[in-house]
Amino acid sequence: MLISLVVPCFNEEEILGRFHARVTEQMTRLGHDFQLVYVDDGSADRTLPVLEELAATDPRTRYLSFSRNFGKEAAMLAGLQHADGDAVVIMDADLQHPPELIGRMLEEHARGYDQVIARRTRKGDRLTRTLGARAYYWLINRLVDVELVDGVGDFRLLSRRTVDAVLELTEYNRFSKGLFAWVGFPTTTFGYENAVREQGSSAWTFGKLLNYGLDGLLSFNNKPLRAALYLGMVLMSVALVYAAWIVGFALMKGVDTPGYVTLIVVVTALAGVQMVIVGVVGEYVGRIYYEVKRRPHFLVKAGNTVVPNQQAREF
Ligand code: UDP
Ligand code: MG
Repeated sequence: MLISLVVPCFNEEEILGRFHARVTEQMTRLGHDFQLVYVDDGSADRTLPVLEELAATDPRTRYLSFSRNFGKEAAMLAGLQHADGDAVVIMDADLQHPPELIGRMLEEHARGYDQVIARRTRKGDRLTRTLGARAYYWLINRLVDVELVDGVGDFRLLSRRTVDAVLELTEYNRFSKGLFAWVGFPTTTFGYENAVREQGSSAWTFGKLLNYGLDGLLSFNNKPLRAALYLGMVLMSVALVYAAWIVGFALMKGVDTPGYVTLIVVVTALAGVQMVIVGVVGEYVGRIYYEVKRRPHFLVKAGNTVVPNQQAREF
C-alpha cells in the first residue's frame, strides 16, 4: 500500500527540512511505502529551492510550485491531483499536525474507514478566535446541509475513492472542509492536543478568516438567499400592519403628523435590510461569474511532477 502525504507550503523555508525529516522517520517506522507531495503556494521565501533540494536528495519527494499564491484550497487540490497513493494524508508543513498521528490514522483506515479525521483542540489559540469559531460553527450548522465540526480541519486521511470523489468536484470556490463532508463515506474522528506553531506565524489574518467563513456559508446552498427572502417578507408585513394602524389612527382621530423620527428610523432600517439582501444576491451572482469563467484553480511554474494523475486531467 502506498501512502501519499500532501503538504501545502506557503513561506515555510525554515521548517520544511525538519518537517521532512520527522515525517520520513515516522513513515519509515510504520513500514509503509510512501510519497511526499509538496505544493509551494507561491511562497516569497526560499521554499521552492528547499523543495528542489529535498527532491534531489529523496526520490520519494514530489513537488510543484504555483506561479503565485493561490491559497491553501488550491494547493490541496493540486496535491490531491498529483498524489498516487492508495490513501492520502493531508497535513500542514508547520508541524502543527503531528506526524506521529499518521500511524493512528492508518490503523483506523485498516478498520474500514475512508476518512480518518484528526480533530484538534483550540489550545494556544487566541480567545477571540476560539469564541469566533464557536459562534461561526453554531451559525453555519444551521445554514448548510453538511455537518461541520469545530476543530475538524484539513488534517485527515482519505482513501483512494474519497480522493477521486473530491477530485470530481470541480467547483472554483472550494471549501474543502465542506467538500470532504459532502463526499461522505465511512468517516471517523479522533482528537489530539493542538501543537503551537513552531516557527513563523499563521498566514490567517482576520480578513482572510472572515472571507473563508463567508465562503463556507455561501458555497453550499441557497439558504442565505432564502433567509433574505423571509426577512423581506416579515419586514413587509410589519410595515403593512404599521401603515394600516397609522391610516386607521388618522381616520379616527384626524390628521396628525408627529413621528418624523419613526419615519427616518424605518426608512434607514429598510434601506439597510435591502442592501444586505442585494449583497447576498450579489455574492451568489459573483460566484456564478467565477464559476462560468472556468479558469484553472492554479498555475504551475515549476515542479518534478507536472502531469496530474488520470482523474485530474480534465481540469
Ligand atoms: N498555506 C498555503 N497557502 C496559503 C496559506 C497557508 O498553502 O495561502 C499552508 C501553510 O504553509 C501551512 C498550512 O497551509 O502548511 C496552514 O497554514 P497556517 O499554519 O498559516 O494556518 P493555521 O495553522 O493557522 O490554520
Ligand atoms: Mg498552522
